[in-house]
Amino acid sequence: MQQEKYFDCDWLIVAAGLGSLEITKPLFAEFEMKPVLGQAFHVKILDSAHNPNLFTPVVSYDDIHVVPLGHGEFWVGATVEFTDEMGAVTADQTLMDEVWQQAIAFYPELKNAEILRHWSGKRPRPEGQGAPVLKPLQGYKNILLATGHYRNGVLLAPATALTIRDWLLAPETIPF
Ligand SMILES: Cc1cc2nc3c(=O)[nH]c(=O)nc-3n(C[C@H](O)[C@H](O)[C@H](O)COP(=O)(O)OP(=O)(O)OC[C@H]3O[C@@H](n4cnc5c(N)ncnc54)[C@H](O)[C@@H]3O)c2cc1C
Repeated sequence: MQQEKYFDCDWLIVAAGLGSLEITKPLFAEFEMKPVLGQAFHVKILDSAHNPNLFTPVVSYDDIHVVPLGHGEFWVGATVEFTDEMGAVTADQTLMDEVWQQAIAFYPELKNAEILRHWSGKRPRPEGQGAPVLKPLQGYKNILLATGHYRNGVLLAPATALTIRDWLLAPETIPF
């Protein structure tokens, strides 16, 4: 059995997304994550104020999401792009075009949209376990991992924070 150590601080919470790997590497952490790239658009439907067909709830279909921001602006996304065999991932224009065309297919008003911004980010996807990675770092009594949220880090942020808070207030409940 691995000996349990204390890092030289009261508590260390590692919540650095993909950067959590770099931070914990010197501690011989036993968890792995890979980046999964996502491209999304910020768009504005032209003349939206005078468009009676503009219907503005969140609309999701076939894992594509159109999210209203108000004033005729929307988020549209996102691609899901995995790493190649070398562990690298770069934004794929074809996948981006597919998302855009699929979004127009179920939300035709987007045909009249101007793309204000196109961006991409990398989601931290745990390997060999489900998301998120919310647990003590193996071998340490005072390092907690709050990372690897993959596609749901915004959604799960409050629940993650509450779990970490509860563990700090009652360390005997931490699942070592
Ligand atoms: C296109 C796309 C769409 C998404 N859509 C959704 C969605 O609809 N709903 C949802 O819930 N989630 C969504 N996500 C996922 C969500 O963005 C992530 O799960 C979330 O950002 C993870 O939050 P985090 O704080 O753990 O990590 P991050 O947001 O990656 O933040 C980590 C922070 O740590 C910092 N850091 C890194 N390394 C170090 C270091 N060595 N030292 C100090 N600081 C460091 C970074 O600079 C960064 O500020 C989406 C992601 C993408 C890319």
